[in-house]
Amino acid sequence: MTSLYQREAQSISTLAHLRFYPLALTGGTGARLIADDGRELLDFAASWGAASLGHSDPRIRAAVDRALSNQAGASYLSSANAATVQLAEKLLSLVPSRAAGRIWFGHSGSDANETVARTVVAATGRPRIISFSGAYHGGTTGSAAVSGHPSQVIPKAPGLTLVPYPNSYAEGDQAAEKALAELDRLLEGPVPPREVAAFFIEPIQSDGGMLVPPAGFFTEIERRCRKYGILIVSDEVKVGLGRTGQLHAFSHHSIEPDIVVFGKGLGGGLPISAVAGPEAIMNFAPAFAFQTLHGNPVCAAAALAVLKAIETGQLAENAAKVGAHLLSRLQTLKQGHPLIGDVRGQGLAIGVELVTDRATRKPAKRETAMTAYRAFEYGLVLFYVGVNSNVLEFTPPLTLTHEEADRGVEMLDMALTDVEQGKVDPSQASAFAGW
Ligand code: PLP
Repeated sequence: MTSLYQREAQSISTLAHLRFYPLALTGGTGARLIADDGRELLDFAASWGAASLGHSDPRIRAAVDRALSNQAGASYLSSANAATVQLAEKLLSLVPSRAAGRIWFGHSGSDANETVARTVVAATGRPRIISFSGAYHGGTTGSAAVSGHPSQVIPKAPGLTLVPYPNSYAEGDQAAEKALAELDRLLEGPVPPREVAAFFIEPIQSDGGMLVPPAGFFTEIERRCRKYGILIVSDEVKVGLGRTGQLHAFSHHSIEPDIVVFGKGLGGGLPISAVAGPEAIMNFAPAFAFQTLHGNPVCAAAALAVLKAIETGQLAENAAKVGAHLLSRLQTLKQGHPLIGDVRGQGLAIGVELVTDRATRKPAKRETAMTAYRAFEYGLVLFYVGVNSNVLEFTPPLTLTHEEADRGVEMLDMALTDVEQGKVDPSQASAFAGW
């Protein structure tokens, strides 16, 4: 444990900590991080996908520098500023026409999803919301209230109904059919569809375990939503903006959400989120959902630089290419490691599910924590997710190279071997077990 980590323990609350090992950073460039002890680490997490262009990206630095050299206030609450207007115009040009009404800006995926949840209910007069079991839409009271992740002990919204997210690894080919049957059962009985304002979806359920839904599943969801006038809210916070190999993760499913939520990678490491939606919803009432620093022009300038870099640097294409390479390397790794039960993902949103037994698929929670810990010791930053905390999550910078992908796989290979051979002390990891 480094001295920085120990000093932190004496000064900073643990309330916001979700730690897997004693990671303490002093700097970074691209996908390379510098640890407090001087070690170079390869970043396969990108701060949960937030550092979408990697670290110290010159395009973001230049944009932030310009914005701070002639600062147009600090907020859009009580004044317009050019950066947020420009960013709103840009986002409106990128979303499907249904969502291309108005843009709201916040700081985080949490405040954005909370705002959507409050606004759709107020604007439509419909009291209910549907979301998926295992979904993580945020950590504020209002966003957790419409989430289904078991790690959250915050009370749920009174009008919330959770439906199963199809898990093809656990349930095989029937997964989508079973989830849809349960949805239909609810809509035909206890959850009158005309009372449902919105259905929150994740095109890949990331914190729930990097679950990639079967083809056609979301088309069926869309069909039901259109039939009953239920708004589709696509939470693109973690896997949107290029990460899956397309600009929007929902595009893989050929659906058109009514509301699109952006966060994390939008600011490339600076705090900004955005919601795109129909005017009738987004202009429901003034002064309805705001915080002082919302619409901050410095963060908006960073987001504009990120969107430009994604476009001009063809970063969605890079995520598709390098992601396919990484996925195939991980699939090969599976052959030599009995701990690996499943490898899945799209682009640079990848999950590796660890199990104690491939036949029973019993989650290898302890071994997952140990693998992440050992990988860190080898120099790889990798976190894990899942309702059973047994899915290693890969959300590296969109700029990741083939060589970096290969280097990360080599470190993971060594970490898995050590865990499988009993060379890792479980107490090291259990002291940090995050979720
Ligand atoms: N939505 C999704 C899909 C997420 O993965 C997260 C965070 O993990 C959030 C929303 C909340 O974002 P934030 O933690 O930035 O508030």
